Amino acid sequence: MKLANTPITQHQFDGIPFFLKRDDQLHSHFSGNKARKFMALLELEATNIDTLICYGSAQANSLYSLAALSAIKGWQLEFYVDRIPNWLMDNPIGNYRGALDLGAKVIPVADSHLHPVDYIEQIRQPDQSCLVIPEGGRTTMSKQGINQLASEILSWSRFETNHQFVVALPAGTGTTALYLHNYLKPHGIEVLTCPCVGGKDYLVQQFIELGESDHPTILELETKHHFGKLYQQDYAVWQQLLSETDIEFDLLYDPMMWRCLQSWYKDNLDKTIIYVHQGGILGNESMLPRYERKYGVI
Ligand SMILES: *Cc1c(COP(=O)(O)O)cnc(C)c1O
Repeated sequence: MKLANTPITQHQFDGIPFFLKRDDQLHSHFSGNKARKFMALLELEATNIDTLICYGSAQANSLYSLAALSAIKGWQLEFYVDRIPNWLMDNPIGNYRGALDLGAKVIPVADSHLHPVDYIEQIRQPDQSCLVIPEGGRTTMSKQGINQLASEILSWSRFETNHQFVVALPAGTGTTALYLHNYLKPHGIEVLTCPCVGGKDYLVQQFIELGESDHPTILELETKHHFGKLYQQDYAVWQQLLSETDIEFDLLYDPMMWRCLQSWYKDNLDKTIIYVHQGGILGNESMLPRYERKYGVI
């Protein structure tokens, strides 16, 4: 199975013209940057692996993507979490529901008083039939699929003359932004990102832990921004994006990047943004009701 070559479409947001790499359209279940990051696993030839093991939040986009990957490959996914909130257990929604539907086992470990990483190592004790993936796909294995994404962007850009392109995408672990930067910098394409989790210092640390010393450009908001928290401005930007482009963006990462780009663009009117849509739409199923309860339905 080969998944690649998502379309690039043209839009405008708040007076900013931009191109959009539609990685949300890679596959109905296996899409966005998690699909790119786990692509090397999809392309693995026959192995003796029958179980995929990972950990993270019960609402993570990576949970759903790994569940889809496992379903395609015929593997069992075991996804270890600290806990599953009662409201989520009672009313499964979003990535958690999607993953259960695809046959994933989501296993809470809080009772053991161990971190999921230690639980996997000490209690689960994976053998040769298991493949263990770090949280959010923060691994050098992700490079292969992200290089493919970068090469698609580069080939497309070669046919669009008279533009000074920059590629923009929000960062969690920063793995996607970092490997795009690695690939595109020698071709004169700058990569812009913003730290959605833990601030700039944390993001730089993540880059360093992946063994890279040359990094993408990091944009920031003027005020502190906490991951997973609800901000009225984020909600407004998300709604404006939806109404101006007719495309649904992710509610967790994309609004912050667009807010950074709104300020950035004022000083960079000569540049053309290629924004990477990194998927994550199923996660909106739980984020959107939270926003609607707090700020009303629009
Ligand atoms: C995981 C994810 C990100 C962050 O990706 P990193 O490679 O960890 O920086 C951004 N947007 C969406 C929609 C995601 O699912």
